[in-house]
Amino acid sequence: MHESLLYEKLPGSRVKCHTCQWRCTISPGKLGVCKMHRNLDGILYGLNYAEVSSVAVDPIEKKPLFHFFPGSQVFSLGTWGCNFHCKHCQNWQISCTDPSFLERGTRTISPEAAIEMTKRQNCQGIAWTYNEPAIWFEYTLDSAKLAKENGLYTVYVTNGFITPEALDTIGPYLDAYRVDVKGFSDKLYRELAKVSGWRGVLEVAERAQKKWGMHVEVVTNIIPTMNDDEEQLEGIATWIRDSLGGLTPWHVTRFYPQHQMLHLPPTPVSTLEHACAIGKRVGLRFVYTGNVHGHASENTICYSCGNLAIGRRGYYTDIVGLEDSRCRFCGADLNMRT
Ligand code: SF4
Repeated sequence: MHESLLYEKLPGSRVKCHTCQWRCTISPGKLGVCKMHRNLDGILYGLNYAEVSSVAVDPIEKKPLFHFFPGSQVFSLGTWGCNFHCKHCQNWQISCTDPSFLERGTRTISPEAAIEMTKRQNCQGIAWTYNEPAIWFEYTLDSAKLAKENGLYTVYVTNGFITPEALDTIGPYLDAYRVDVKGFSDKLYRELAKVSGWRGVLEVAERAQKKWGMHVEVVTNIIPTMNDDEEQLEGIATWIRDSLGGLTPWHVTRFYPQHQMLHLPPTPVSTLEHACAIGKRVGLRFVYTGNVHGHASENTICYSCGNLAIGRRGYYTDIVGLEDSRCRFCGADLNMRT
């Protein structure tokens, strides 16, 4: 157990957690919504510091991040629990859990050990992914500081529900912010993730880019009948254009039936292509399909001269037209971190 960093003490030994936008008020002995923070006698503890559920060396494209150190390998870590309870969660075995995970057995990897492993595996950076990184915020903060001291890049793969003050705490040590925007309505967030007040996700993503200079890419997993309507897709694309800029990549990914959404079919490829068209129409320069192997819209094409900058097939990456952040052929800015 590790004392939480961002909370306040309230009368009656209650506490208020400020790590994520739930801002849970927790009575003594009780857990927060994420079930990973417990109030013990008026002190808030994280139960999953350094407790690892998943560890792998991944291509950065798997996050997905297409404009951030393309072709690099990233050391990837996930823990237990989540602050969202999404019906379509692909990783529900690790996200839908409670403190009993400690009794079932778990692997402990200290921040020092994680950085050592990252370097030993010849990875250029480290990512907290698979479930919400804010859920073990203190661990990611300690690890991110060490990563930067060791010349590694750092990545959050996040649902974006972290508070502005938590973001500001880790902001100096975080390079990339890969955020889900799951839809564009109260109804969608409520039905899919049991979350209200979701618009804070948008504000914090903008803050990550504008205040901290993080590289931001947005993912929307398109689920038939849930968020595949014109209004939501256009809403997301327009928000990206106006708040993050037209060079911000948007990944529209294919849903496959999972967890509590086994009754829905996989997303038709035509729906993804329609979402791409909406993004392009609105003015986004880089819209990618995901989870459709070999689709042409996995490639990065220069919006100015039309040449291929990066070819992709699955996780195979072929960098053919890139010079630093720009198109090698015409010099257009491709918003690429290399
Ligand atoms: S991290 Fe979020 S869900 Fe968990 S206790 Fe804190 S405010 Fe609640």
